[in-house]
Amino acid sequence: MTRARGGADRILVTGGAGFIGSHYVRTLLADPRGPAVTVLDALTYAATPAALDPVRSDPRFRFVHGDILDAGLVDRLTAEHGQVVHFAAESHVDRSILDASRFVATNVTGTQVLLDAAVRHGVTRFVHISTDEVYGSIPAGSWPETDPVRPNSPYAASKAAADVLALAYHRTHGLDVRVTRCSNNFGHHQFPEKVIPLFITNLLDGLPVPLYGDGLHVRDWLHIDDHVRGVELVRRGGRPGEIYNIGGGTELSNRELTARLLAACGADWDRVEHVADRKGHDRRYSVDYGKIRAELGYRPRRDFDTALAETVAWYRDNRRWWEPLRARAAL
Ligand code: NAD
Repeated sequence: MTRARGGADRILVTGGAGFIGSHYVRTLLADPRGPAVTVLDALTYAATPAALDPVRSDPRFRFVHGDILDAGLVDRLTAEHGQVVHFAAESHVDRSILDASRFVATNVTGTQVLLDAAVRHGVTRFVHISTDEVYGSIPAGSWPETDPVRPNSPYAASKAAADVLALAYHRTHGLDVRVTRCSNNFGHHQFPEKVIPLFITNLLDGLPVPLYGDGLHVRDWLHIDDHVRGVELVRRGGRPGEIYNIGGGTELSNRELTARLLAACGADWDRVEHVADRKGHDRRYSVDYGKIRAELGYRPRRDFDTALAETVAWYRDNRRWWEPLRARAAL
């Protein structure tokens, strides 16, 4: 094992051209004392590299177009960085139901390629970004991190496999792995295939919005500002080998969410198209984020309704950003 160069002041961020990764990178570089950041991103259909435009001229920023499955490239890059924050993934559940192969390749094998390189080069910290979906579905109460993984969709199964692999690298190799499991994210620059930006952009264009099944599936909503702050708390102050749930504190059924989006966009229920339920659709997600609150002082700061109104306003004002993405969003 060699010692990676750069320590905490050189961070390799995978998937940094995606929704959450790009927000994380902009946030790190907004701090003049923040670390140098290299983004490794394959620029799949889901990437929105323009979200990195605000940091492109920062001398601490570097972008590498490449795949986390490219072991040679990952090896060279990992050798130059002290820490890894791993966001890269295939992230859309519906696509995993149509074809899971890319999900297993990127989310599982890609994570293994990164972990192996991290061990080889003595990376001092590896933050693995996961999801509450690994826990399955919970009718009441909330999952603590000690609950077992019981994923239902191929997406969730691929993320759960990556989580347990990452934690095994901690136990086997002593790699400082920290896993975060967040709830459903929302905010500006989210690709318009996910429910909130899909509904907003459809409503802004006078199109119907598809509501799955009876619409009573419940999700906890987390603004990206809160998520990114939670990830940073874990990277800086979390403990090796630990899992941290990151929640937003606003649980809504999809019907309730739809009602809020209709109101925010000035539309009526006649715009809602009831469609057949998604296969294996988890009924309710709810993370207990008491651990990150107690250990690291995390709490969600963004008020849901205010943040949702801001998100709607952002999509209203940034058509040029999302209109070209719609064709790519079609399943
Ligand atoms: P996203 O789909 O917006 O972005 C993913 C990024 O990863 C894209 O830029 C894509 O080009 C890149 N990528 C995909 N495959 C790659 C590969 N093989 N090599 C290199 N780059 C690759 O995803 P997101 O919503 O920003 O999610 C980021 C992470 O957070 C994911 O790990 C996801 O599982 C997790 N997560 C997301 C949510 C959410 O609500 N969006 C919730 C829980 C967890």
